[in-house]
Amino acid sequence: MRFERLGILLLGSMASLIGILAIPNPWIQSVYANEQFNSEAQEVCPTPVLSRLKRHRLATGETVDSIARQYNLIPATLLGMNPILQRQPIAIGEEILIPPHNGIQVEIPPGRRWQEVAKAYHARPDVVFEINGCQTQPTVLFLPGVNWSPKGPPIPALSVLSGYPLPQPTTIQMGYGWQLNPVLGQVVFHSGLDLTATVGTPVLSVGAGKVAFAGEREGYGKLVVVNHGSGKQTRYAHLDNIGVKVGQTVNLGDVLGTVGTTGQPDSEQPHLHFEIRYNSDLGWIAEDPNPYFKVRR
Ligand SMILES: [Zn+2]
Repeated sequence: MRFERLGILLLGSMASLIGILAIPNPWIQSVYANEQFNSEAQEVCPTPVLSRLKRHRLATGETVDSIARQYNLIPATLLGMNPILQRQPIAIGEEILIPPHNGIQVEIPPGRRWQEVAKAYHARPDVVFEINGCQTQPTVLFLPGVNWSPKGPPIPALSVLSGYPLPQPTTIQMGYGWQLNPVLGQVVFHSGLDLTATVGTPVLSVGAGKVAFAGEREGYGKLVVVNHGSGKQTRYAHLDNIGVKVGQTVNLGDVLGTVGTTGQPDSEQPHLHFEIRYNSDLGWIAEDPNPYFKVRR
């Protein structure tokens, strides 16, 4: 679960076939019906950038520079949108997302306003508002002209998170990032990985840390949150049983609980919803756990 919904409803299968995300008009109208926008605003508002992402499959011989040139973007834009490109060599055959403009994608932390986020990045609010389709309460924003930099999203710290959250590696039911939810028929932002596992499988801490939360939370169901060093946090959701208490110190590989189906999992097949977040001025921001798994020893 933990879909942070941009609010883009679409005919998902169509989108994946075409490779370009598009918004059906009825949705736009229904949203505006609830917001204080006049008809002029509707007419001038473009389709949000994040619903106009193209897909590009990485081919042999390509580099971040060559792909950036192909789409008339700077490499930093591609690197920020696609953490997979931050590793070398690039993963041939994998798909990356191509925005129509240079910029970065940021999540709006719960309880924050998008205006605060735009300000933190020194982005002009009026431009940000329009380019994101005039949404008043977006959960994810595209900030045009802002460059991703290696100092921004932290590089995986092997020393802090070196484990796997289950006794053995398993399949990923749903990945991190923009995903088509077949049940909802929507493309939504998934803030973690859904790792297939049977109910009752032990859930393990991927690093040493302190339990920051252990209990029920809406959507997540039974949830354990562990704060690690270096501003890292991990979340383990939809648990059946919780085996730790808030404030408890845990070590790499310690059992935190067991896999369950509590909360609102995205599929009926039991899985662990696992997130990695990093601490920023804007709160705990979800990042793609895959790079950690790939470099795990
Ligand atoms: Zn999930």
